[in-house]
Amino acid sequence: MVVTRFAPSPTGYLHLGNARTAIFSYLFARHHGGKFILRIEDTDRERSRKEFEESILEDLGWLGIDWDEFYRQSERFELYKKYVDKLLETGHAYLCFCTEEELERERREAELRRVPYRYSGRCRNLTEEEVKKLKEEGRPYTVRFRVPDGRTVVFEDLVKGKIAINVDDFGDFVIVRSDGTPTYNLVVVIDDALMGVTHVIRGEDHISNTPKQLLIYEALGFDPPKFAHLPVILGPDRSKLSKRHGAVSVRNYREEGFLPEALFNYLCLLGWTPPSGEEILTKEEIVKLFDLKDVNRSPAVFNVEKLRWMNGVYIREVVSTERLYETALPFLKSAGYPVEDKDYVIKVLERTKDAYETFKEMVERLRPFFVDVEVQKEKLSLLKELGAEEIFEEVLKRLDEFELSTPEDVKSFVKEIQKALGVKPRSVWHSLRIALTGEEEGIGIDVLMSVLPKEKIKGRLERVLACLR
Ligand code: GLU
Repeated sequence: MVVTRFAPSPTGYLHLGNARTAIFSYLFARHHGGKFILRIEDTDRERSRKEFEESILEDLGWLGIDWDEFYRQSERFELYKKYVDKLLETGHAYLCFCTEEELERERREAELRRVPYRYSGRCRNLTEEEVKKLKEEGRPYTVRFRVPDGRTVVFEDLVKGKIAINVDDFGDFVIVRSDGTPTYNLVVVIDDALMGVTHVIRGEDHISNTPKQLLIYEALGFDPPKFAHLPVILGPDRSKLSKRHGAVSVRNYREEGFLPEALFNYLCLLGWTPPSGEEILTKEEIVKLFDLKDVNRSPAVFNVEKLRWMNGVYIREVVSTERLYETALPFLKSAGYPVEDKDYVIKVLERTKDAYETFKEMVERLRPFFVDVEVQKEKLSLLKELGAEEIFEEVLKRLDEFELSTPEDVKSFVKEIQKALGVKPRSVWHSLRIALTGEEEGIGIDVLMSVLPKEKIKGRLERVLACLR
């Protein structure tokens, strides 16, 4: 059975890149009818925060990702100890008593010599007596993995192809910190092995960790899983996507009013190309199609405009009215709009779907459907120029004669007014726009007037009229 996992560190909000990793791992498991595990990697006590863990779970749930098993590494510390002991017993690991200052000195020297830093191996060959003595002195220590000299670790990456890395590039690395907590490279191996993970799917920034992990697999006698490293996500300037490029957390996009369905779909396209080339695909469709062989090797470029476009497509064409309503509602509420009349809200949403691409934008665009806006003084002279007084009088006089249930009805009504007064169509439309919305551009007036109750239309026109007279 295929078993994959997503293993976030709770040191920040869920980043788009990590969300993409979660999605690909999830899709691969679901495609194969396998198991998807969520594992919180909180071994770094200083940087891990409960609130980040909570927000990551919430954001994954929001994206529509569900998991079959859940683990938290901080609850498994006891279990890891056994494996550390085993590595120590077999000589694959040793205690290192080097102090932070000593290591810092080594790092600085390497920097001066302009060579990549690797641990000197000073404690590699301490005798049992030396170790005993240092321990008795109460000297703090870490546990380091003894990296065999001169080895080249080779593995077949399911996305990147064959990868060979010479282990001399990194020195003996720490697997248990001086506070007794195990490090990522150690626990990731133990957990992946014990949890039966068959495919490790993660960002390519972890490629350099893979040889270290493979050495630990070997030392512990575990069978290694298959690895698939996903291409990095770049910003529009082709540097690695980061805060400099603007919003990069899933939460930001949620708050901006993106649909999780659309963000999910968009993130799938960052590195994966559907065989048919078709881009708008639901989660269920992608689960059926997804294969690692269609994951690209080269970097993916995040394009917020395309995401916005896709969100617009989902709003207009993909999601149901009920879904649109439940997503829009909190946004409308937080803007303070009256939303008690569900039928009215639904009618507004159905008629205006093509007027915005995000729910944040929706709030602005739909304001005139919910709020009687003030017409500013400087707009009054414009209204006078347009002959609005006469227009509004005519509109108010004849409004009840007409049925205004569709934008077409409104168009015929406006034509009637314009002909009766012998004025230009634009004068009527523009005057109505200013009086009903307070703005010179925005939502279609034919749409607005086809939904807004006549009482509201009258009220707004009368108020402006009073200012014009
Ligand atoms: N905790 C690691 C991270 O957040 C997970 C890496 C992995 O998937 O092995 O980057």
